[in-house]
Amino acid sequence: MNPEVRGALAAYLEQRRRLGEPDLVLHGLDRRQALARAAQTPRRIVSADSPAPAAIPADLAQVVGDLDHDQLRDAALACTRCRLSDGRQHVVFADGNPEARVMVVGEAPGAREDATGLPFVGQAGRLLDLMLASVGLSRRESVYICNVLKCRPPGNRDPLPDEIESCAPLLKRQIEVVDPEVLVGVGSFAARWLVGRKGPLGKLRGEVHSYQGVPLVVTYHPAALLRNPSLSRLAWADLQLLCQVIDGADSAA
Ligand code: SF4
Repeated sequence: MNPEVRGALAAYLEQRRRLGEPDLVLHGLDRRQALARAAQTPRRIVSADSPAPAAIPADLAQVVGDLDHDQLRDAALACTRCRLSDGRQHVVFADGNPEARVMVVGEAPGAREDATGLPFVGQAGRLLDLMLASVGLSRRESVYICNVLKCRPPGNRDPLPDEIESCAPLLKRQIEVVDPEVLVGVGSFAARWLVGRKGPLGKLRGEVHSYQGVPLVVTYHPAALLRNPSLSRLAWADLQLLCQVIDGADSAA
């Protein structure tokens, strides 16, 4: 059997176990027959018009609530909770230091991120690194970076509400295990999810919010800055605000 298929099925079964379904009934097939059947089954082609995924089990937050960072990453890598699992090359879980004081949350992987499995790569990623460096932060040591969605929406379309809802327990637990001192929401979808309020990014930026008691600054996505350089002045002001929040966390420590 193709080792890739076997690995994917094993990861799926492990994920179901973690979600509280230890007794899997494979319609009368034994394990060998089930694996053989899985290897022969073509992947389902799913588009944005596909039916919404099943509702999140009420206990999902509790299930992922027990996971540490590496277990959470493994659960995300095996996740098939929404339609985006069908078209992905890689689950884009995170980059940077899981013990960082600053956590950056973007929107969703793009084509390069999907190809590499890393968030914020390519031109926008380099700009984000420069923005962080301008306030003395480095992706490798002092920042943890992830996205609201871990899988790429096809054609880089906007995330759909049910996809965000499906993925949210992973991000919530990710924030809990990283336990940052400061959060940075990058782009409108991340900003809205973290702030918990609708509205254009221009109305959400420029103030310090709170996510579960963690200070939160929101700003423009670097891809938006590349498209519209006139926003750079506002993004720079947001970085200065971020500096003040980090300084405040320093003096409180
Ligand atoms: S986007 Fe999130 S919920 Fe959907 S399959 Fe990927 S990891 Fe799972």
